Amino acid sequence: MIDLHIHSRFSDGSFTVPELFQRAKNNGLTGIAITDHDNLLSIPIAKELGEKMGIETIPGVEVSTVHEGIDVHVLGYFINPESKELQEKLDFLIKSRHNRNTKMIQRLNDLGYAITYEMLPKNDFAQNLGRPHIAEALVTAGYFESMDQVFKKLLSRGKPGYIDKEGITPLEAITAIKAAGGFPVLAHPFYCYKDRRILKEFIKTLVDGGLGGIETYYVNHTRSECEFLKEVAKEFKLALTGGSDFHGTYKPAIELGTGRGNLYIDHSVLEQLKAAHEQYL
Ligand code: AMP
Ligand code: ZN
Ligand code: FE
Ligand code: FE
Repeated sequence: MIDLHIHSRFSDGSFTVPELFQRAKNNGLTGIAITDHDNLLSIPIAKELGEKMGIETIPGVEVSTVHEGIDVHVLGYFINPESKELQEKLDFLIKSRHNRNTKMIQRLNDLGYAITYEMLPKNDFAQNLGRPHIAEALVTAGYFESMDQVFKKLLSRGKPGYIDKEGITPLEAITAIKAAGGFPVLAHPFYCYKDRRILKEFIKTLVDGGLGGIETYYVNHTRSECEFLKEVAKEFKLALTGGSDFHGTYKPAIELGTGRGNLYIDHSVLEQLKAAHEQYL
C-alpha cells in the first residue's frame, strides 16, 4: 500500500516528517510522497528516512494555483529540490500566503473575532501558514466547536472570512515542476469542477500545457468519480496517482494510507508513475 499525498509540519500537517515515516511504517506503507504546500523542505529529510526505513520515497510538493477564480492544486513528483525556477515560484507563493494571512486576520478582527497572528498554531515553516491554522486558532479561542464549522461559516471561498491569495496559474506550476525534472499531476480534480464535462475540458487544457497525471484514487472521490477519472486518464494518456491528503489532527477523520478506512492504493501505482515519469522527460 502507498500514499502519495501527505502533509507535514512544513505546511498544514500536524506531524513532523520523521513522525510521518514512523506512522507510514506502522500502517504498512511501502511507498510515500510528502507533498507539502508550496515548499520543498521535506525532500532531503524524507530521502534519508526512506532509505533508512525501507520505504520507497518520492520527492513531492503540492503547488497552490488559481484558475479563473478557483483553487487548483498541482502536485509535483520526482522534484529536484535544487531547481531555481521552481523555488522562485514557491518563494512568491509563500510571500503571498504571508500577506494573505495578515489580511485574513484583519478581516476576522473586523468581523468580531479577536485573534492575532501570535495565536496561530506554530508549524515548522513559520510563514507557510494557511486556513487550517487560522481555523484551529478560532476553535482554540472558543469561537467554534470544530474546524469544519469554521470552514463552513467563515473560511471557505465565498464566506465572509475568505480572502484570495495572489497566485500563479496551473500552467505556470506545470512548467516550473517540469523545469525541476518533476512530473506534474492535477490534485483532487473534483475540487476544481464537479461538472464532468467542464472538468474534462479543463483537464484537456492542462494536458496541452504538459500535465502528466491526475490524482484518481483520492480520499473524497466516489467510486463513480474515480471511474470517470480513469477513463479521462486513458483517453489523454495520463498517469494515475493517489493519496489520502493526510493532515494529521487538522483533518482528524483521515488516516495515513487508508484515508477514511476504505482507501487502498497498490504499490503498482507507484511503479506505473515511475515509468510514466521516465517517458515524460
Ligand atoms: P489555504 O492553502 O491556506 O487556502 O488552505 C487550504 C487547505 O485548507 C487545504 O489544503 C485543506 O487542507 C484545508 N481546507 C480547505 N477547505 C476545507 C474544508 N472545507 N474543511 C477542512 N479543511 C479545508
Ligand atoms: Zn493542506
Ligand atoms: Fe490540495
Ligand atoms: Fe493536500
